[in-house]
Amino acid sequence: MLGLFIANLLGLEDFYNGRLAVGWQPALLAGLAAMAAAAGALGKPSSQSVQKMAWAAYGLFILATGVTVLQTGGVDSPFMALWLLLGVFSGLFGAWALIFMALLVNGYIAYLALVTAKTEALAILALIGELPLIISYTVWRGQSGQLSEKDKAFSALAAELTQVAGKSEIVINAIADGVMAIDGRGVIDLLNPAAQQILGWTKQDALGLDYRSVLKLSNQKSEPLAPDTDPVQLVLTTNQTVATDDLVLTTNSDKKLQVSLIVSPVGSGGAGAIIVFRDITAKKTEERQQAEFISTASHEMRTPVATIEGYLGLALNPKTATIDDKAKEYLQKAKESVQHLGRLFQDLLDVSKAEDGRLNTNPVVVDIVAFTKEVTESFELSAKQKGLVLYFKPVSSSALETNRRLNPVYYALADQGQLREVLSNLIENAIKYTQTGSITVDIGGNDEAITVSVADTGIGIPPEDIPHLFQKFYRIDNSVTREIGGTGLGLYLCRRLVEAMRGRIWVKSEFGRGSTFYVQIPRLTHEEAMERLAQSGNLEAADSANA
Ligand code: ADP
Repeated sequence: MLGLFIANLLGLEDFYNGRLAVGWQPALLAGLAAMAAAAGALGKPSSQSVQKMAWAAYGLFILATGVTVLQTGGVDSPFMALWLLLGVFSGLFGAWALIFMALLVNGYIAYLALVTAKTEALAILALIGELPLIISYTVWRGQSGQLSEKDKAFSALAAELTQVAGKSEIVINAIADGVMAIDGRGVIDLLNPAAQQILGWTKQDALGLDYRSVLKLSNQKSEPLAPDTDPVQLVLTTNQTVATDDLVLTTNSDKKLQVSLIVSPVGSGGAGAIIVFRDITAKKTEERQQAEFISTASHEMRTPVATIEGYLGLALNPKTATIDDKAKEYLQKAKESVQHLGRLFQDLLDVSKAEDGRLNTNPVVVDIVAFTKEVTESFELSAKQKGLVLYFKPVSSSALETNRRLNPVYYALADQGQLREVLSNLIENAIKYTQTGSITVDIGGNDEAITVSVADTGIGIPPEDIPHLFQKFYRIDNSVTREIGGTGLGLYLCRRLVEAMRGRIWVKSEFGRGSTFYVQIPRLTHEEAMERLAQSGNLEAADSANA
């Protein structure tokens, strides 16, 4: 338009027949439009100011074209084609551009209507003027609407992701535990400040390396981990979270740390893993010292307690001492308390042994039915004294041998002392926590496992206590249990011992009606049991079992 104006100035209007002569006003508007467009082109593509410049450029160009059309013959102007084109594309700039053009067209029509009032000509003008706007409206509106919806959703998502990413980074950096992210090949992608501090590696040096050269793990004997014991490898192959607090980490400066480690898979199988680790050297040392103290203290105190118990026994025995009834009553109470104390020391000793692996395990082939029967029978007297009936369900007490043929023989590999401790604890508890009724010991199983159950008709266990029952020192605190003494160590010890046998222990209970404790341990096949019995020279037992 500027060019045409200049051509006009230079007197070339004859060449254009005068019909393309553009006046200074539209030339000025077109120049401003060009400047606005140029300013917009220099800005950032997505910024708001660029959009405003584009709108201004388009608006100015509409005005320039409108004025030119009016100046060069109205509907007959050669610039009408440009006007129609602008009309069709106005929808691209949104509703305001359409409204702006519609206002100009209708304003012009209204002006003509006032001046000339030629209805036919006005109708044609209205058609020519409005049609491109209507087309533009129908074509562009739908698309621009969709686009802006999509755009909005996209930018909202992008903003949210940026925010989340920012927050996650802050959180990861603030965590006091070491966090390391690796990809499926084991290459380190991320290392938070705590991890850098624990490992003695900087992020710059560690990123891009194989995790094994930075996170040097070994077992307690300082042996490197095999792929099937390396928790990270396990996670990458099985896609299951692994947690352990039994490993040693060698730092960059060759310091050995006890660490607890949680490795979680990322995405689908083997895509990567997140390793969260913590230095627990101080905690482990403290635990060991505590266990050592408890075990030494209980060991040292057990002897004088046993001596006191012995002397109290002598004092209470009419053959060895003569005391009056009042003194007898007091000494009886003292003896009960001393027995309780002795039991507590024994439990503490057992627990500390189980915890630091000092329990001597001597696994042998055990016929579980015969063994459990013998343990159960040893409690017959105490059950009777409390007025309770003690049933051993698998076989009646008089017919163990004859019933063998009807009942399966269950063999397991277990330390007899430890198994006795577990079963005794359960039967003892059943008697202790049952006021009236019975205790039933039963045995069942399948090819893989044997389950011994001890059911009672006692006080039962509230559901909220069940998850804590096998924890150290956990005792249920209610009016009934408060009267019954205990240490809260029995079931904890049972769990440790059963787990050492690769078994599990659990309970089902109805508060106020009774409880059933279950112990499940792996079963030996008959052939395996025979082989082991033969190997251990216990041929007699093997022969009788075969018979
Ligand atoms: P405790 O020395 O207190 O008996 P245990 O570890 O053997 O310690 O048992 C923990 C708690 O579990 C007990 O204090 C008791 O409240 C509950 N408990 C254990 N066995 C039974 C049972 N057969 N019936 C009801 N409650 C039981």
